[in-house]
Amino acid sequence: MHLPVPGQPQKTDIASLRPEELSAEIAGLGQPKYRAVQIYSGIRSGRAIEELTNVPLSLRNSLAEKFAVPAVSVAKKQVSSDGTEKYLFALGDGSFVEGVFMRYNHGNTLCISTQVGCRMGCAFCASGLDGLLRGLNPSEMLGEIAAAQRETGQRVDGVVMMGTGEPLDNYEASLEFIRAVSSPESFNIGQRHISLSTSGIVPKINALAREKLGITLSVSLHAPFDEMRSRLMPVNRRWGIGELIPAVTAYQQKTGRRVSYEYAMISGLNDTPECAHRLVSLLSGKEAHVNLIRLNEIAESPFHPSTKENLDRFMGILEHGHINATLRRRLGRDIDGACGQLRRRSSEKN
Ligand code: SAH
Ligand code: SF4
Repeated sequence: MHLPVPGQPQKTDIASLRPEELSAEIAGLGQPKYRAVQIYSGIRSGRAIEELTNVPLSLRNSLAEKFAVPAVSVAKKQVSSDGTEKYLFALGDGSFVEGVFMRYNHGNTLCISTQVGCRMGCAFCASGLDGLLRGLNPSEMLGEIAAAQRETGQRVDGVVMMGTGEPLDNYEASLEFIRAVSSPESFNIGQRHISLSTSGIVPKINALAREKLGITLSVSLHAPFDEMRSRLMPVNRRWGIGELIPAVTAYQQKTGRRVSYEYAMISGLNDTPECAHRLVSLLSGKEAHVNLIRLNEIAESPFHPSTKENLDRFMGILEHGHINATLRRRLGRDIDGACGQLRRRSSEKN
């Protein structure tokens, strides 16, 4: 994709070019084809043009006149007692996004952001409070991985697109990121180790299904009734539950990949037996998994997390209804200010 470099709009983002686009640019400079391969694998694993030491200095200099690799660095970090690290990433135009590095027995997973802010306006979420500033370039999403690997000295084995922003509202860039990150020249993270979370932009779910990717789709449901869901998630006013669930089911059938529904338990609102029974009837017989999440309290919203009794009762009804459900294990509890809060706090200070 031909995109400007954030903070240096006169330059083209070389690390967001598709392989064939980069090859054409390199051929245009009168360079042999293998150079494009060298440059591609360098910049797509997070190196800057100056750091491409296997490329002659004269070529690096001429590349740097027209191109740059967007900067992503760790501006702030919080480390949890369980080893989880939460980052505030600084981008080249002075904006910030969040990422979380989680250590599991099966490997390390990084939660990345796809937009600076979000325009979906969910009532319980800190990321949307100030609206959307811009979408991230694919290269900046790759840059989050490179920055986390530099910070920890460890490999990122899996990625969840669940940080700031709605990935399907930055569709082309998110798709290009998925293709890039899973390629052997880049981070070689298999699509089975990538999940994408969406608030439910139905036409984009349909488009994604046609890409036949191996990723896991996560859908933020949070309420089984339209009236309640529209109140929590304005996107539901456009595409209601009656459109969303068939689209997600079609996605599952087309890709053969299991889908999951995220459901943050809000005290006295969506945690009632009535909601649980309704959820059972919505998902009964479908190849789907429900992740019950503990709500993170944010100062700006009136919602509180469910009590353990309500959670257990809800879980019991799902199990009884043969719905596959888990209470998500949470890493980094002691640092886990709700998603989006680290970024907000720092922008308040600045
Ligand atoms: N925009 C996408 C992905 C980023 S949000 C989406 O909405 O799915 C990642 C997840 O965090 C979503 O499931 C979202 O609903 C959830 N989330 C947002 N604010 C939350 C909060 N305060 N407590 C618990 N989960 C929250
Ligand atoms: Fe955006 Fe997701 Fe937050 Fe909703 S929950 S405002 S879609 S980041």
